[in-house]
Amino acid sequence: MAWDFETDPDYQEKLDWADAFVRDEVEPLDLVWEHEQFVPLDGARRKVIDPLKDRVREQGLWATHLGPELGGQGHGQLKLALLNEILGRSPWAPIVFGCQAPDTGNAEIIAHYGSVDQKRRYLQPLLDGEMFSSYSMTEPQAGADPSRFETRAVRDGDDWVINGWKFFSSNAATASFLIVMAVTDPAADTHNRMSMFLVPSDTPGIEIVRNVGLAGEPMNEGSHALIEYRDVRIPADALLGGEGQAFAIAQTRLGGGRIHHAMRTIGLAQRALDMLCERALSRTTAGSRLSEKQFVQGYIADSYAQLAQFRLFVLHTAWKIDKYNDYKKVRKDIATAKIVMPTVLHDIAWRAMQVHGALGVTNEMPFFRMIAGAAVMGLADGPTEVHKVTVAKQVLREHSPTDDMWPTEWIPRKQAAARAKFSEFLDDEEGAL
Ligand SMILES: Cc1cc2nc3c(=O)[nH]c(=O)nc-3n(C[C@H](O)[C@H](O)[C@H](O)COP(=O)(O)OP(=O)(O)OC[C@H]3O[C@@H](n4cnc5c(N)ncnc54)[C@H](O)[C@@H]3O)c2cc1C
Repeated sequence: MAWDFETDPDYQEKLDWADAFVRDEVEPLDLVWEHEQFVPLDGARRKVIDPLKDRVREQGLWATHLGPELGGQGHGQLKLALLNEILGRSPWAPIVFGCQAPDTGNAEIIAHYGSVDQKRRYLQPLLDGEMFSSYSMTEPQAGADPSRFETRAVRDGDDWVINGWKFFSSNAATASFLIVMAVTDPAADTHNRMSMFLVPSDTPGIEIVRNVGLAGEPMNEGSHALIEYRDVRIPADALLGGEGQAFAIAQTRLGGGRIHHAMRTIGLAQRALDMLCERALSRTTAGSRLSEKQFVQGYIADSYAQLAQFRLFVLHTAWKIDKYNDYKKVRKDIATAKIVMPTVLHDIAWRAMQVHGALGVTNEMPFFRMIAGAAVMGLADGPTEVHKVTVAKQVLREHSPTDDMWPTEWIPRKQAAARAKFSEFLDDEEGAL
């Protein structure tokens, strides 16, 4: 009987340390260097952040998503989930702990598919936290449907030459290299027509046309780049994995990325629930505290119920990833977590915002940003609708049609069978149909 919902005491100690460390040392970074997490470290930021990273390393919590052979602790996904729900409270925390998206996913695919030279050049600095990367897949005319991607890479002697447009390449402006998905065999089917390339950001021909910001951010100062690749020439060894493998590589990358977002979302939603409860206990109106109003109690109960279900599901999914060590086998669960995540965060943040009254909708409280974050979670790494299709297909695979005119659970037939089974114990009248 191995269902066990307890954390090893040794690891719990680490989590307790991380919890206090994030609160006291990391969350303040969000208030002084907001939006600078992906700007390479220099000057004052390096003086503050390098020692914080060293403290994380001393605790053995640096880059724990990776195995020891890659410089991580090899703790696995379940332990990472417990850590990530702490880190999810703060945008800076994943950077200080060496496990920030999109670099985690990018590191993972280089670890899986990269050559020795590619690992030396890109993976090691990524793992050391000394380099940022960008994943350049989505195009202006297509995101969820890879069969509509048009960016081309054409072989020219010993080189590849890339031409096309990419949209929403996060952190491209500060990344040292881009992972570009491009069509190399237009005649092949969707799963085999594209390849992936590791392209240094300073390669001639790469132009960031706009740095698109999310709602509320200043125009053209965001972190999601619209990029034109114009005759970008790269050597043959810039190919990651084999020709035509981009689709398969993308699946490896996105599986981990999606569940890591879900883990961090637990932390953010918990933060919203904590704020909801504090406000409910602190504010009095119409003769009683908000915590005594049934509507508000309903908000708290619904939020707790949503979060508790989501958290257990994410932890179970993480456990399954560790058990099978194969994202494909856990695809249905990862997609399910991805579907549920925006709603859980949205609903809890919305209720917390409402209970804070006017203050809740100001830029002096974080609720609007959380709600915007929920909207982002419904799109980044694929829209909710597409994941629902995946889940439905996987669920249907576990079922089969009936050839009969009536459903298998049609009660009259089942009743007749039951009566026949127990006919000797039923009197004639009961036994007859
Ligand atoms: C904050 C953020 C960061 C991102 N970072 C990156 C990044 O680093 N690199 C990168 O390459 N991309 C990135 N993306 C892009 C993201 O992967 C795409 O936005 C996503 O795949 C959807 O593509 P799209 O925006 O083109 O929407 P579309 O594909 O045009 O879809 C639009 C809408 O159509 C509906 N829809 C689409 N397909 C279906 C379907 N099969 N069935 C039913 N309805 C459907 C959905 O409502 C969907 O939201 C990021 C996006 C966001 C919001």
